Formats: sequence, C-alpha cells, structure tokens
Amino acid sequence: MKTHVKALVVGGGAVGTSIAYHLAKAGWDDVVLLERDELTSGSTWHAAGLLPLFNMSYATTHIHKYSVDFYKSLEAETGLNAGFSVVGNLRMAQSKARMDEYMLYASTAETCDVPYEWLSPAQIKDRWPLIRTEDLEGAIYHPTDGYINPADVTMAMAKGARQRGVLIERKWQVDGYNWSGDHWDVTCTKMVEKGGNLVPSDEQIVIHAEHVVTATGNHAQRTAKLLGIKMPAIPVEHQFIVMDKDPALVEFRKTNPEHPVIRDADAQSYVREERGGWILGVYEKNAPARFEHGVPDSFRADLFQLDLERIEEQYAAMIHRVPSCEECGLKDDFNGPICYTPDGNPLVGPAPGLRNMWLAEGFSFGITAAGGIGHYLAQLMVEGEAEIDMASLDPKRYGSWMTTEFAARKNEECYDHVYILHHPDEERPAARPLRTSPAYDRQAARGAQFGWAGGWERPNYYAPQGFSDHDSRSFRRGAWWQYAVDEAKAVRESAGLIDATAFTKHIVKGPGATAFLDWFTTNKLPRVGRINLTYALTAHGTTRTEYTIVRLRDDEYYLVSAGAWADYDADYLRKAIEDKEDEFGRIEMQNVTTQWGVFAIAGPKSRDILKSVITDADPESALTNKRFPWLSAKQIELGMCPVNAIRVAYTGELGWELHHPIEMQNYLFDLLERAGEAHGMKLVGGRAQNWLRQEKSYRAFGTELGRDATPLEADLPRFVDLSKEFHGKAALEQIGIRSKCVTVLIDGPEDADPWGREVLYHGETRVGRLTSGGYSVAFGKSIGMGYVTPDLAVSGTKLRVKMLGKLWDAEVTEDSPYDPKNAVIRLDG
Ligand SMILES: Cc1cc2nc3c(=O)[nH]c(=O)nc-3n(C[C@H](O)[C@H](O)[C@H](O)COP(=O)(O)OP(=O)(O)OC[C@H]3O[C@@H](n4cnc5c(N)ncnc54)[C@H](O)[C@@H]3O)c2cc1C
Repeated sequence: MKTHVKALVVGGGAVGTSIAYHLAKAGWDDVVLLERDELTSGSTWHAAGLLPLFNMSYATTHIHKYSVDFYKSLEAETGLNAGFSVVGNLRMAQSKARMDEYMLYASTAETCDVPYEWLSPAQIKDRWPLIRTEDLEGAIYHPTDGYINPADVTMAMAKGARQRGVLIERKWQVDGYNWSGDHWDVTCTKMVEKGGNLVPSDEQIVIHAEHVVTATGNHAQRTAKLLGIKMPAIPVEHQFIVMDKDPALVEFRKTNPEHPVIRDADAQSYVREERGGWILGVYEKNAPARFEHGVPDSFRADLFQLDLERIEEQYAAMIHRVPSCEECGLKDDFNGPICYTPDGNPLVGPAPGLRNMWLAEGFSFGITAAGGIGHYLAQLMVEGEAEIDMASLDPKRYGSWMTTEFAARKNEECYDHVYILHHPDEERPAARPLRTSPAYDRQAARGAQFGWAGGWERPNYYAPQGFSDHDSRSFRRGAWWQYAVDEAKAVRESAGLIDATAFTKHIVKGPGATAFLDWFTTNKLPRVGRINLTYALTAHGTTRTEYTIVRLRDDEYYLVSAGAWADYDADYLRKAIEDKEDEFGRIEMQNVTTQWGVFAIAGPKSRDILKSVITDADPESALTNKRFPWLSAKQIELGMCPVNAIRVAYTGELGWELHHPIEMQNYLFDLLERAGEAHGMKLVGGRAQNWLRQEKSYRAFGTELGRDATPLEADLPRFVDLSKEFHGKAALEQIGIRSKCVTVLIDGPEDADPWGREVLYHGETRVGRLTSGGYSVAFGKSIGMGYVTPDLAVSGTKLRVKMLGKLWDAEVTEDSPYDPKNAVIRLDG
C-alpha cells in the first residue's frame, strides 16, 4: 500500500471511482482510492441505473450530459461494456401545467445542447401502443439517454482509473483525518470478514495525502463527524419493484425496439423494461430518512424490507398506464438507502473550514451524476476552478445553523417532491419557519408570503389574508403576480419597505485590513464614510462574491454580500485572510450576519418618511445630498434606534439601507410603518425587488454573477480597477470577453414572463441564455437579463426569447433602461 499520495479518494461507489479516474486523467499520477468493503457495495449496487438528462439546473444538466457522453465512450477505452441501453426517456404529462414545466425545462436542455422532441398522445400511442394515452396532454422525449448497469459502469471506470495509474484498495476503512499544516494524515484500518459482518482488524496504516476527497455515500454522517463538520447528507428509503414477464410486451418486442424509460411524473413513477417484464420505481410519500446517526456496522450491501402499502397508489397508476402489466407477478424488489440533501443537489466542493479536503457526498442521482462530477471536481482540484459554476453544489450552502433533524425532515420532503410540479416560484414547507428575523410575526400578520433564503424567512410578496401561495403557483403569471406589480409600482411612485436582513455581513478590521481588501477585491477601496461595490474573484478571474463595502474607519470595513451565502462567503474570506496575514499584517474578521437586521426603504417618498422620524439637530437637512450624499454611509438615529444607514437602493430609486441592531428591529419596523402610512408606503417583497433591479440592470449574485463569468463579462468595468493588482487579475485579463451580460425587454406572451432560464436567439441562431427574468412595471412588458455573444451586446440588437415553446421578440436595451442617468437615485431634497 502506498503511504504518500497526491490524492486519496475515500469510497468506491460510482462517484468515488469516477473522481479517481478523472483526477488521473487530469494528470495527477499519484491517486489512491480506498473502499471499506467491495467496489459498488454502497448504494451503487442496487440503483436502477436510469440516466435522466432532465434537469432544471444549468450546472446539473451539464454534469448529467457529461456523464451520458462519457459512459458511451468507456467501452472503447477499457474494453468493458458498461451496459448502457440508449433507449431514450419519455416524460409524459397529464396536465397543461406539466407541459408548461417541460417547456421551461426544454429551455435549460437547449442551452446545454441536450436534444429533445415533443410528442402528442397520438404519436406516443403510435410508437408504443402498450401505453395508455387518452388522459395525456403530451410528452417530452430525450432520444440520447436511457439506463446503464450501475455496477458495470463503476467497474469500467475502475479499470480506466487503474489503466491511468490509480491504485484501488478494497477492505480498507478510513477512520481518522488529521491536518498537519500542509497535508492530511489519514488513519486507515484493514477490514476483515467475521461471521458475515465486516469488522475492523488490528492492522492500521497512516496515509500522507496532499488532498483528500470523500465520496462515502450513506456513511456521510460518520465522515462529517470524523472531519468535525456538518453535512445535510442523510439517506431516505427508495423502492423499486421488478415484475415478471408481460406477454404483451414480449409480443411487442418481437418486431419493435425496447421501450424508452417511461416517466409518469404525475403518478410519481418511472418504468423501464427488464427481461420481458417491467421495473417500476416510485417517489412516494412518507418514505423515512435512515441512518441519521450513521450506518450500523451490520448493514453492508443490504436492503430494507419492501413496503408495498406505501407504493400502492403508484402501483395502481402503473397498471392504469400500462394495462398489460396487470397480470404480471412480482419477481423482485429493492428498498435501499438513497442519499439525499435538502435541495436534492449533492454536496460537492471544498469542505467548510478545511484545506485540501473535498466533499462529494449526498448523491440521489449518483449514477447519472458520477461521470460529470468526476470531471468537474477534478477540474476544480487540479486547475483551481471548473468550467461551470459549481456554487449550487457547494457544501457550504448549508451553514452552521443546520442540524440533523432539519436535514432528515428536509431530505424526506425532497424525496417526495421529486415528481411534484417544480414551479419556479415553488416554496417547500418542511422545517419552516426556522430562521426568522424579529419582524417575521408582524410581516406574517400583514400577509407576507415567505421565501427561503439560506434558511431565513424573507417576504416574497404580501397578499390578503387567506390567500394561498401554494395554489397561486404557476409556470406563467401566478395569482401572486398582481401583488408584486402593486408593490413594484409603490416603490416607483411612493415608497416601499423591504426586509433584507438575510444579507451576509462581515466586519474586516485591523492593521492589515486595508492592504488585504485592496488585494482581495477588484475596485478601489472607499474613503471613510463612503461605500463601493466590488468583487472578490476566483483564481480564474471569475466572480466569487459581490460585496458592498462600507469603510467605517481607516482600517475597519463592513462587507455586505448576498443573502443565503453566509457560510460560502465566510469560508472564502477566512481562508484568504489566513493565507495573507503574514504579508499584510493582522486582520480580524467577524461574521455579524445575525447581529444586524436590514430594512431597505426606497421610493420618491423615502426621504420624507425618514425625515419624519430622524433624531437630528436639523432633520430637514439631515438627508439632503449635501449631508448624506448617494453612496455614503452614516450613523443616524431613527426614533430611539441607532442605524447605520447606507444611501443605496437595489431597486434604483432614492433610498437607504437601514442596518440596525437586530433586537431593535420590531421597534424600527413599527416606527417606519407608522411614518410611511401618510406617504402611501407599502411593504414590499423580494419578487418585486427582483423585477425592479432588472430595470436598472443591477446584476444579482447567483444569476448574472458567478464563477462562470468575470465582472468584465458581466459588463461591470467601472467596478474593476485595472490599475492596481488584485487576486485573479491576470486570469481575468487573459480570459477576455467570451460573452457579455445584457438587459432585454421582451414582447412576450400575455400571461407569462421569463424566469431566467430561457434560450436567446438572433435570427435562427442560438446566441445565449437568460439568467434572470420578470416583469417591468416601468415599461409594461417582460424583462430579462442574460448573456449573449459579445458582438450582440449592443443596445438596439433584436433578439428572440424562447418561452412556452415559441420565439418572442426582444430587444437589448442600454444598461439601466430605467433612469439611465441615475437622476432619481441622486434626487436632492
Ligand atoms: C433503489 C434505488 C434506486 C436508484 N436508482 C438510481 C437510478 O436509476 N439512477 C441514479 O442515478 N441513481 C439511482 N439511485 C441512487 C444511486 O444509487 C446513488 O446516488 C449512488 O449509488 C451514489 O453513489 P456514491 O458513490 O455516492 O455512494 P455509494 O455507492 O454508497 O458508495 C459509497 C462507498 O463509500 C464506502 N465508504 C464509506 N465510508 C468509507 C470509509 N470511511 N472508508 C472507506 N470506504 C468508505 C462505502 O462502503 C461505499 O461503497 C438509486 C438508489 C436506490 C436506493
């Protein structure tokens, strides 16, 4: 056994094996994979092997697509047949809403070059007469995917890995990790068979590894404990049954090719052929989470008992859909642990707080994802960044507030939501409310419908009492749309009060703070009392975080970044400070996210409202441009509440962000609400805010801003000071402009706006995609932001946006189509 390696991969399921393969392929020639039992003995052995390309996320679609293409190439490389049956994938719709969902999904597919076809019920019947179609609206069909043998594909990847120099050792369990400052000392125990169980022997070794990747599947909770971190990766039971031969199917197959994988999403099931019979897999209600506190030693390549009662409804629906299966007996059943996370995305990337420790945990579609994850994680490790933005998979999207109970309940919910209608305005109810700002009860009493942002409850919009957000969801304009319109108008015409407490907030101070931040971010640092907008980059020159920086003192700064990303931002900042402290001097960093509440007040009347409650020797002049200019910050008093006020407004109106001690939030809320009454101020939610910021072309983190584009590609050169040195600068300059961010106004359908996933065309040519979308109250039509080829990023360019299966005219606007000169923001008074 090697005891000094460049990378140690822990776990020999589909995921770990693919990562080892791809690390070797990327040029690391000293890779060892350890598996405590046999390869594939975790969840991999009992997977159904389906490879659905269907995915609503841009990053995940790229990952799945890579897998499907890669698996097709494995036999030529290794001589092993991975058992890939490219039978296609037929997703049927029982309702118009489901067809709308598929049309939105088709946009993502199209942006990622995933081919698809639309089929009518008659076309389905014509090709696959065993399927009942009279209650269907239609289907989307992917010809290029299908299913694979999970064990065979893992073995083929293992062979490919060995051919590239990877050492794979079975029956070695990793039992301890110790970071020595520049490498990991990993304690490993030889496992032996004893009475059918796998038990640790006395033989132990320590492997010195520069990098470690954990891909431990259902053992994620044990891995988390060994590492001293938290991971919301907990398995849930998942069942499929195998039926005996179906004579009608056998007859059909004499003259026809195999059926595609048949997905009846409205019946929560997938079906595929298996030796003349059928496999029925379901995502049913009440499947329990398992192994919350670790996998028992006695559980190896085992299964749970089938719970037929739990899947009765889906079984009946299968008989309805494929009536010929009614007489088929049950041949086999599988009820195994399938690892989940609260949002269904795996946890892939650097482990929180640790160096050279990479996680690849929590896979619920691990066979489908393994190939792509190996490829992109290897890029991240070997090159420092992947070509797609991996933030939506980053392990740090769940913060230190996360608990076992939260993860277990959310994972159960995620499982039973696999086949619900995935409205883009979906809000999931489990484990909520959990993280609330003090004003939550007041907001709820005024009709707030809440959205989830990194665990925080944040009003999406306000509706009359008794309104059901759940029933209002749609792929078009939901019933909530009119409330968001009214709120957006209030901001443009009078004033709105927005809760922005979820913002991530850090204090960075100390003798080294100025030099550090100057290096860490792209823009010039502000003078004391002023603010700027700036970017921290990845080593590849793309956007890692957007900050609003307030300079409180010469060497003290207040950094505000996107809500929902507190741990993601904190980890990057902390590691950068540790790396640079020797060079720049002592730097203190404090995460103050939960200490400061934030209200944003915006609109032409916002100054009058604040004036009426400000405690100042001269309230009339306190908020004038002279005393409180745009892009400055001041400590003011509103009634009895001390407030750090910042004159900015993400909605593009005259306005202030009011950062206040969180314990005084209710006092401040009542004060502002009373003062606002006389001025027609409305409580405003995140949906209206999101539309308004697009009218100003304000890029948002997670949509326009991320690790797949530089701030120059986001067309933000005014926040990048190329005259100074900063982290990622050389890479940013080298990348150049691959595509450019634009704002478009769209003559779209009467009842729908884009969601930010739509394809952009120039004539007949696909030229980009939207990353945000919504409705503009200022222009009375749909609006969106996105990326196109640089030559088209010119005001006046005519484009077309694909929405609901059709192309709609759109035009690139100048940057900030609403108030391009910022006149209303700078308004004096
Ligand atoms: C019934 C069922 C059907 C499914 N169908 C599909 C499907 O059709 N398509 C799809 O994409 N996915 C499917 N899945 C999910 C799929 O099985 C998993 O997502 C996938 O197998 C996860 O692979 P993995 O490598 O992450 O984990 P695993 O396969 O569980 O591998 C983890 C490995 O790590 C080893 N290990 C753990 N701890 C240590 C340690 N400390 N030291 C050394 N080794 C360790 C374990 O022994 C194990 O072999 C299904 C799951 C179930 C239960």
